[in-house]
Amino acid sequence: MDGFASLKGKVALVTGAAGGIGAACARELVHAGASVMLTDINVQRCEQVSRDLNDAGGTTFFSEQDVTSEAGWERVIAATLSHGGGLDVLVNNAGMYTGGTLISNSLEQVRRINEVNVESVFMGMKYAAQVMKPGGAAGAGGSIINLSSVAGLIGVPGHTAYGSSKGAVRLYSRHAAVEFASLGYGIRVNSVHPGLIATDMGQLVLEDFVEIGLAADLATAEDMLLDMIPMSELGRVDDVANMVRFLASSESAYCTGAEFVVDGGMTAT
Ligand code: NAD
Repeated sequence: MDGFASLKGKVALVTGAAGGIGAACARELVHAGASVMLTDINVQRCEQVSRDLNDAGGTTFFSEQDVTSEAGWERVIAATLSHGGGLDVLVNNAGMYTGGTLISNSLEQVRRINEVNVESVFMGMKYAAQVMKPGGAAGAGGSIINLSSVAGLIGVPGHTAYGSSKGAVRLYSRHAAVEFASLGYGIRVNSVHPGLIATDMGQLVLEDFVEIGLAADLATAEDMLLDMIPMSELGRVDDVANMVRFLASSESAYCTGAEFVVDGGMTAT
């Protein structure tokens, strides 16, 4: 396992796994030996990612899931238990980006992004913890990893709606971590804070810089964002997935309630 702690025998659930960071996380967890349930609203792409991983020798399952549906969470957790035989790791990765300025954003947009980015994390933690905690259907404790963002730590223009939702994910993680540890659940909770990563969502961020008038075109937007990153390059999905694998494994056994930035130095300046 290249020196990394093996996840052999562990069962993980990754939301938003049809592409981008979620698919990369599923791949890393499979490489480390975990069985992985992949879910997404885009079930066709999710099935394809799952099939590719199985063809390469992995053990994965897939399910359609809208992370804003409470009934969907109950169904997917039950399916993970029945297909995988347990639940040790939850990666709350599914999320959306809404750009625009604070003044241009509508209340509907703000409510929707909180529904997708924050309420989903609440439900994921709630239903996963119920089965991971002692006496639960899996009962072996576990690791919950919530995808926040650098925008959950610092201010970025065009990010008031998105950044505040990711700030909520950050503190939801901390509070849950402290509560679960205090109650003796054996469940760790950490948040991961990617900087600008080359995915469909990363592209939306660049487009929004143009749309709100911060940059004249996409090339200028990219230059402006690269100027904010000391390493002067966008992150790769694998950079984030490697961190997620570490947090899923026993190598991070003493880490809980912590924030892990993967941002090329963006928040260090
Ligand atoms: P992406 O848009 O490429 O992929 C997101 C996935 O989530 C998609 O497959 C989409 O179908 C799925 N999804 C969206 N809404 C859903 C819903 N209601 N139910 C189920 N699935 C849903 O995004 P990404 O760049 O891979 O981002 C993954 C996570 O990382 C997100 O939480 C995002 O906020 C966070 N993040 C991304 C970046 C970046 O620069 N790309 C930076 C910081 C944080």
